[in-house]
Amino acid sequence: MRRRYLWIGVLGLVILSVLFLSVARKQGSPLKAEASLFGGVQTRLRSSSFGGQEVFAQLPKPKACIIDIDGTIANEKERRAMATNPDGSTNWRKYFNPELVKKDKPILKSREVLRWIEEKGVKIFYVSSRETTVLEASKWWLKAHNFPEGEVYHRKSFAQSLEYKIDTIRTIQKSYHVIFGVGDRDRDITAYQTCGIAAIKVAESSEEDWIRVKNEIAKLIK
Ligand SMILES: [Mg+2]
Repeated sequence: MRRRYLWIGVLGLVILSVLFLSVARKQGSPLKAEASLFGGVQTRLRSSSFGGQEVFAQLPKPKACIIDIDGTIANEKERRAMATNPDGSTNWRKYFNPELVKKDKPILKSREVLRWIEEKGVKIFYVSSRETTVLEASKWWLKAHNFPEGEVYHRKSFAQSLEYKIDTIRTIQKSYHVIFGVGDRDRDITAYQTCGIAAIKVAESSEEDWIRVKNEIAKLIK
């Protein structure tokens, strides 16, 4: 007898659950949104106002910028002098010595501007043609000198600098709205322009020129 009541109870619960689910489905949940962790690009919306149909909407990508390292935020003149052979050529092994990289002097005004950029909600990507062998030294240097956090990209030794920068920026652009790039070389400017972002050239290893650079950036991110 008890068993029979138990079965009737279970059956009742099942019927109630089915009824509840079918009603909920008809009404549709007000808004169902799915987005990836980093401000996902595609959002799926299901709304009763769309007759329960699924529609796809584009979320704005988070803002970002590209910052070169050598000659832009790091003064590497001493390292370069040490790595210059008597015939004027460069000893690249020495130039990309992690211990020497760590000794580069920070360009303090650039740090101030990068902190301001960060406060404006623009993510920083440090895209440098330094070889990947010094990646850890670069990260150490950025942290040691209190530069804002950001992803750091370096070049594999066999890669051509220009192509590497363009490829890296295009990959970043898949997930971010990259507004501008700052660099001290014509090659940086070509890479930025090729990727369709505002290109700002800063005088090599200059503190003062960052004042002008900040004004240029202010026009872009206000
Ligand atoms: Mg540079």
